[in-house]
Formats: sequence, structure tokens, C-alpha cells
Amino acid sequence: MLLEELEKIVGPRAIKTTADAVHPHVTEWRGQVEGKAAAVVQPASTAEVVAVMRHCLAHSVGVVPQGGNTGLCAGGIPDESGTQIVLSLTRLNRIRAIDADDFSLVAEAGCVLSDIQDSAQRAGRLFPLSLGAEGTCQIGGNLATNAGGINVLRYGTARSQVLGLEVVLADGTLWSDLRTLRKNTAGYDLKQLFVGSEGTLGIITAASLKLYPRPAAAQTAFVAIDDAKDAVPLLANLRGALDDQVQAFELISEVAFDFVLRHVDGARSPFDSRSPWYVLIETTAATTDALEASLMEALRTGLARDATIAKSGAEAAELWRLRHSISEAEKHEAPILKHDISVPVGRMAEFLDRSRAELRANWPEATLVAFGHVGDGNLHYNVALPKTWDDAQRTAEGARITQSVYALTGTCGGSFSAEHGVGRTKRDLLRTLGDPTGLDMMRAVKSALDPRGILNPGKVI
Ligand SMILES: Cc1cc2nc3c(=O)[nH]c(=O)nc-3n(C[C@H](O)[C@H](O)[C@H](O)COP(=O)(O)OP(=O)(O)OC[C@H]3O[C@@H](n4cnc5c(N)ncnc54)[C@H](O)[C@@H]3O)c2cc1C
Repeated sequence: MLLEELEKIVGPRAIKTTADAVHPHVTEWRGQVEGKAAAVVQPASTAEVVAVMRHCLAHSVGVVPQGGNTGLCAGGIPDESGTQIVLSLTRLNRIRAIDADDFSLVAEAGCVLSDIQDSAQRAGRLFPLSLGAEGTCQIGGNLATNAGGINVLRYGTARSQVLGLEVVLADGTLWSDLRTLRKNTAGYDLKQLFVGSEGTLGIITAASLKLYPRPAAAQTAFVAIDDAKDAVPLLANLRGALDDQVQAFELISEVAFDFVLRHVDGARSPFDSRSPWYVLIETTAATTDALEASLMEALRTGLARDATIAKSGAEAAELWRLRHSISEAEKHEAPILKHDISVPVGRMAEFLDRSRAELRANWPEATLVAFGHVGDGNLHYNVALPKTWDDAQRTAEGARITQSVYALTGTCGGSFSAEHGVGRTKRDLLRTLGDPTGLDMMRAVKSALDPRGILNPGKVI
């Protein structure tokens, strides 16, 4: 009955019910979580989203919003009941407006991130949000997860890029404020409630976004370092020397780098010898002079052991390909235990020292595969488990490793979820590690906006 009503709203070609058609929408990116859905519904307009939500509420059917399905916490995957609807935003993919003088762009939720970057570029502007999944993830998903990525150091997370939102609430009410205001203190900043709410408070259908001047130049360097801890003072020195023009600063462990060299076509190291850690740096300084001088100083003082600066855009792109391919390369190297943690940058060295000591002492056969946005204090602190462990060992020891990583993250004043969200896979962690008063406030917001609990049930809280 509901499906017939939904078909009337979106048309027969925009509702999928066969197992083959539904499968990609109920399977998480790495294939580690799989749910079931009564249907995948793909509205083509905000009005259709409104109508879909009204009907789902009337039938008390859970709705799981989904963008590019690249999320890493299964937030866009329905549960196993087969009763929920996946609401795919893919067909809401128009850039509604772009205003170079206003430094703003209005995009529908289903616009792929790289398409937004390209539109900004054609208008002579920069949309700075950038991450490995940018060719597939959608701006609605980026905002719903408050995505981070490689340029947070300079421009902030997705939250910092949003000027306004259009949102369909659980009962089908449309809230639209796509004004491109930089300042507005008239009441609560409601748009920010939806950013990072992972589809549990409303369906984002469009967003007005900030654009920036395109940097006149970009310099990219790849640096070999002896120890991850050296990355922190190296970054501090560079920020000072380059008048804070460091746009990205990405740490890569030797093991993660090896995965890329092994599994990614044409990938090769810029250095002849190996190093335990590497850093990929991008600056927007007009020339390489300051970067070169700073790296020479780092080599002299031992903070760096080798360094290369890309001589062309193609060389820079090749260095970035090495970084962006890590998650993909990891897929070939099972089993990997993933942690997306953050600590204050000033405590990164302490966290690394203590966590590595614990790993060495208790699980000497396990290997650290860390990489991440170290300038933001964000590490993908992944651990490769020995292939000799059986399933029971992996589950039991894996849980102990994870517990020790999160305990230490907490001790160092950090978070168990830096940029991937909570979704389904980290919901229990939020319950156990979250601040009780904060959790009560989250529950109050959830029940005010979605009293019947139909929006992304079982996610976040
Ligand atoms: C190779 C790779 C690299 C990655 N690198 C990074 C990185 O550097 N930084 C980072 O932050 N993340 C990264 N991610 C994770 C992921 O790409 C981001 O979380 C991304 O923002 C998700 O966008 P999506 O469109 O795929 O959302 P989905 O996976 O479809 O959904 C994610 C969550 O948002 C909700 N949602 C989706 N669309 C909407 C909407 N329109 N309205 C309301 N809720 C919605 C879903 O219900 C779900 O809870 C990476 C992932 C991969 C596969």
C-alpha cells in the first residue's frame, strides 16, 4: 500500500524493490554491514521529498536518507528488518545558483562533491571541502556527517562551509532558509542542528555554501620523517614560516604507504629509501621559497630525513593520489581495525607514544597503519590484525585493542569519532563514552523534531 503511494509520487522508475537494484543501497562501502529495505525511493524534487515523508509518517515507516553511500559508520544503511525505506537523494542534483561576487553557491543535496568543486572552479572560485570519496559522496551526505577531509586546517569542516539549508522534517514540513548571509544572530542557528546529525533530524534537500578566492598558487611537498611525533613540530614551524598558508598536512605511516604501493596501479614512492613515516604538505604560498627554506631547516635539525617538492601540477596530483588511495588500498589488506580518533594537536605526541607502547606490549603481532589529518589532531589509527588470528581471536583481541585506543583517546582529551560520525557502528560508543548531560540534550532535540522516531531509526542516539 505505502509502496504504491510512493510510486505515484516519484514514478515507477524511481522506486527500486528488486534484490539486485536494492543491494548497493543496503550495503556499506566496505561490504562490512548489510541491511534490508522495503524499497529505495529516489525523489527528483524537494516537493517529492515532502510528499514521501508525509506518507512514511502516516504509515510509521522508518526512512533512511542516503547520499553517495560512502559513509564509514553505516549511517546510511537500513536495519535488517526489511521494513525501512532508503530515501536516496541522488536525483536532487542541480546547482541552483552560483554568485561569484557573493562568494556563494546553492546546491541540491544530491550534487556530487567534485561537481560542486568543478562548478566553483568554472566561476573562478574555490569550494574547499575535499576528501578521498569526493567523486561519489554528495553534499547532503557531507553536511549530514559534518565531513572533514584534507583542507580542514585552513577552511574548517563542512559545518564551516554552510550558509543556509533547506530541510524536510520528519512530518513533511519544509524548512527553507537558503539565504547566503554571513551574519545572522536572529535566534538559534538552526541550520547547524542538522549539520552532523546524520539524517536523524531532517532530510537536507539543498544548501547554500561558501566559496573562496582560488589560491593563486599551490605548492605540494612530500616529506619523509623518522617518527610521527616529529610531524607536530614540523607543522608548527611551517605554519610560522609560511604565514599560516599551510592548507593540508597529512601524515602517512610506512605500512599504509606500502599498501598503496602494492595495490594501486602505477603508484611509486618519490624516495629511493624507505622511511617509517611520511607527510604530505600543501601550501598556498606564491613561490616555493619559504617552503624550501623551511624544509631545509627541518632536514638540518633532523625533524625531516628527506623531502621533495612537486615541480608541476601533474607531480602534485600524483602525490595526492598516493594519499587518497589509502582507504581503497586497505580494502585489499584484511583484517583492519579502524579508529577515527582526534586529540588536541598539542597532545598528539603523547597519544602516539602511549598508544604505540600499549600496542607493542600487549599485541606485538599487530601492526599500526595510521594515517590522517594530523594538522587537525585527527588520526585514522588503524591496526592490521595478524592473518594468523582466527575469527574468535580477531573479535576478542580486536575489541580489547579498540577499548585501549578509545580509553587513551579519552585520557588525552580526545574524541572517538573525529570526522566519520556515529551512524550505526559507533552508537553504543556514544552511549557509553558520551557526556550524560550532552546525551540528554541530544535526545530532547531528537524527540522535539522527530517524536515518532521515523528518521534514520537506530542511528546516532
Ligand atoms: C575513500 C574514502 C575516503 C574518505 N575520506 C573521508 C575524509 O577524509 N573525511 C571525512 O570526513 N570522511 C571521509 N570519508 C567518509 C565519507 O565519504 C563521508 O562521511 C561523506 O561525507 C559521506 O557522504 P555520502 O554522500 O556518501 O553520505 P552517505 O554515506 O550516503 O550517508 C552518510 C550519513 O548521512 C546521512 N545523509 C546522507 N544524505 C543526507 C541528506 N541529504 N539529508 C540527511 N541525511 C543524509 C545518511 O543517512 C548517513 O547517516 C571517506 C570515505 C571513503 C570511502
